[in-house]
Amino acid sequence: MLAHRTTLFKSSGTAAARVAAKAAAASGREIIDLTAGEIWSDLAPSVRDGAIAAINRNLNRYTDTVGLLELRQALACKISAETAQSWSVDEIAVTSGAKQALFNAAMALLTPGDEVLIPAPYWTTFPAQVVIAGGTPVFIETRNSNFVPRLMDLAAAVTSKTKAIVVNTPNNPTGTIYDRDTLAGIAQLAIDRNLWIIFDECYGAFAHEPHTHQSIVTVAPGARDRTLIVNSFSKSLALTGWRIGYLAGPAPVISAVKALQSHTTSNPNVIAQHALLHFLERGDPAFQQQLQRQLTGARALGLSILSTLTLVPRPAAQGGFYFYLDLTGLQRCANRRGRQLNSDDVVNALLLDAGVATVSGTAFGDPAGVRLSYGIDLELLDEGLRRLTAALNAWN
Ligand code: PLP
Repeated sequence: MLAHRTTLFKSSGTAAARVAAKAAAASGREIIDLTAGEIWSDLAPSVRDGAIAAINRNLNRYTDTVGLLELRQALACKISAETAQSWSVDEIAVTSGAKQALFNAAMALLTPGDEVLIPAPYWTTFPAQVVIAGGTPVFIETRNSNFVPRLMDLAAAVTSKTKAIVVNTPNNPTGTIYDRDTLAGIAQLAIDRNLWIIFDECYGAFAHEPHTHQSIVTVAPGARDRTLIVNSFSKSLALTGWRIGYLAGPAPVISAVKALQSHTTSNPNVIAQHALLHFLERGDPAFQQQLQRQLTGARALGLSILSTLTLVPRPAAQGGFYFYLDLTGLQRCANRRGRQLNSDDVVNALLLDAGVATVSGTAFGDPAGVRLSYGIDLELLDEGLRRLTAALNAWN
């Protein structure tokens, strides 16, 4: 017999899409996989060097539960530079990826029954973790406001039980970046209604011109004492498998997180911590520029191919590495012909008919969207998007 809580959430929808793509490929089909939440890239040289040096130094022991002091010092410098504010080591916990940072935040902040505002479409893990912590996700629809939450919708959803707002910018899956006014408005709402802000900026390294990413605590310094910043190196350094992320926030929260982490995973992997410390101390600008160039090129190529779609508007693609397609026009057209079409149908048909794997918006609470990753090899992206546009236009 399993615990009741296991009935409250499902395995990640994005992981399920990856599995479906692999299964189709295993059956002998040539599948172009646009489901990945990661960038195809070699390892950053500084990270490799730092890890090898740590192994050669025979480092094999536990570190401080929330990370090496030197790593937290280096992160304090990084966050201070990014936010234009001063941060100290007791305000930072190193975690096994941003996922653990978010989980720790949910476990440390939420009392069963608390509500958390989550703009939708949303990254699938946000509501799952709220539920695991005993909370209730409250979704704020953003489809009619260019995938940016309207302040009046957020304000109207606040109740006496509301504890926190999740702010994810650049956004997964929609690719939008929240502007300064939106961030300032959310911060003011949080101050007025005594809410926490969970600020996930995992894709902050990839803001595509003319868009820029800003920290909510820079825009609204007055909200800093109620904000938890979540970030990781998974996306910014194409390092998803190394599992290093961090949580930055008020010292009492970090202290609670430390106690929590001491009973769950303890410290993140010691070699990975040293590798990231090496990166932060030495820098790796050539690698970071190359990653940026890769995404800029892939985004431009993708947007040009997707501009040939007849019933689907140009995706925002302001930040991160996802194109999020709005299928409303396609669905209306199908409706007129007496056919219901949700994004699962579209994703299945794209896999079967075009051999292109994508993630259905239903994984993000949206039956009218499809997410495509452009972090993959350029030639594959080119071929995949051409197949996809041909298939979608043929349904018109
Ligand atoms: N936050 C967002 C918005 C993400 O999209 C992801 C991963 O896809 C994460 C957090 C988790 O990142 P990590 O791999 O560092 O745990």
